[in-house]
Amino acid sequence: MNLELGEEQTAVRQLARDFVDREIAPHVVAWDRAEEVDRGIVKKLGEVGFLGLTIDEEYGGSGGDHLAYCLVTEELGRGDSSVRGIVSVSLGLVAKTIAAWGDEEQKRRWLPGLTSGAYVGCFGLTEPGTGSDAGNLSTRAVRDGDDYVINGTKMFITNGTWADVVLLFARSTDAPGHKGVSAFLVPADTPGLSRRTVHGKLGLRGQATAELVLEDVRVPASAMLAPEGKGFSVAMSALAKGRMSVAAGCVGIAQAALDAAVRYAGEREQFGKSIAHHQLVQELLSDIAVDVDAARLLTWRVADLIDRGQPFATESSKAKLFASEAAVRAANNALQVFGGYGYIDEYPAGKLLRDARVMTLYEGTSQIQKLLIGRALTGVSAF
Ligand code: FAD
Repeated sequence: MNLELGEEQTAVRQLARDFVDREIAPHVVAWDRAEEVDRGIVKKLGEVGFLGLTIDEEYGGSGGDHLAYCLVTEELGRGDSSVRGIVSVSLGLVAKTIAAWGDEEQKRRWLPGLTSGAYVGCFGLTEPGTGSDAGNLSTRAVRDGDDYVINGTKMFITNGTWADVVLLFARSTDAPGHKGVSAFLVPADTPGLSRRTVHGKLGLRGQATAELVLEDVRVPASAMLAPEGKGFSVAMSALAKGRMSVAAGCVGIAQAALDAAVRYAGEREQFGKSIAHHQLVQELLSDIAVDVDAARLLTWRVADLIDRGQPFATESSKAKLFASEAAVRAANNALQVFGGYGYIDEYPAGKLLRDARVMTLYEGTSQIQKLLIGRALTGVSAF
């Protein structure tokens, strides 16, 4: 793997840095306190091409490789994980999945809107009673003539209240376990679909997280994405790439923690000198720096594998596992460098820690990543 960034990748990273500094950084604290990111950011993300990365220009995408996607995601994660999540879900989990599995009509219907920011997408897999064991979901889609009628509840859905389209997973046959699961593209304004904001989150407070309730939601059979019974494969392939995006967001969090902590250590004086002079503070900083580099290299390796058409799912689990735990450690270490000031939201460390924490939970908890890696190593499923 070539560790040097190419000209295009360097340019896209700079574009993302400038975007974050201009459009996100000035609002981070206000959005977090208000528990809502300004929705106008979606349009801006679309205009600059970040919602179309890796998608063909034919469908409104902006092209680019997965390393470019990682670089942009990392920068957005450095700025505000609530904004980063909009892209990771609307592009990463929804648009990329439609591009990979959709028929021509589905691609033409949804991709131009998702890549321009005219539409927001959400990914409806988790249910109140089914999280890690996602293949065991109980939302039902029953065939009725040319339609399916869907009933069920989805929980913790990122972008849920903003979404125009839900990539929804439901049981459509009596085949056992995940074999009976199919994927559907459900317009969010379909009668019978209601949504409720999930309040009181520890982090990602600016993000529109929702519970979706589906009561006799009727969609045409043409809304099914991929063949019947393939829904679980659709979800797992989306999450395998999605984990790389979460990992990249975590690298951004850890980098933001490092930048802030180093700056503060040079400014803050105790015992007659800046705290950067104290060896134990340097230990905190060096621990963060190593976490940043290790997480970044694991994440870039996944991008490189995808771009070269190699298997990447286990490497994506490793990157997500390490980077999410590293982001929590890095933000916590940065908070320690800030002392009492780290505990108030005028300084960034507290929010970075709150935002990092969920990364070890969603798109498969750390335990689930270990089971995926363990299965790849041993051939034995320990779920
Ligand atoms: P559970 O599955 O109940 O797990 C509880 C604990 O048990 C965890 O520690 C877990 O690791 C452990 N555990 C479970 N099974 C095993 C096992 N076999 N071996 C060892 N340990 C095990 N979902 C979506 O579909 N779309 C979204 O957009 C989305 N966004 C989210 C945003 C936020 C802010 C949050 C908090 C969640 C989001 N989720 C989303 C849901 C998320 O993916 C789930 O919360 C996650 O998969 C864990 O499921 P659970 O919460 O039901 O926990």
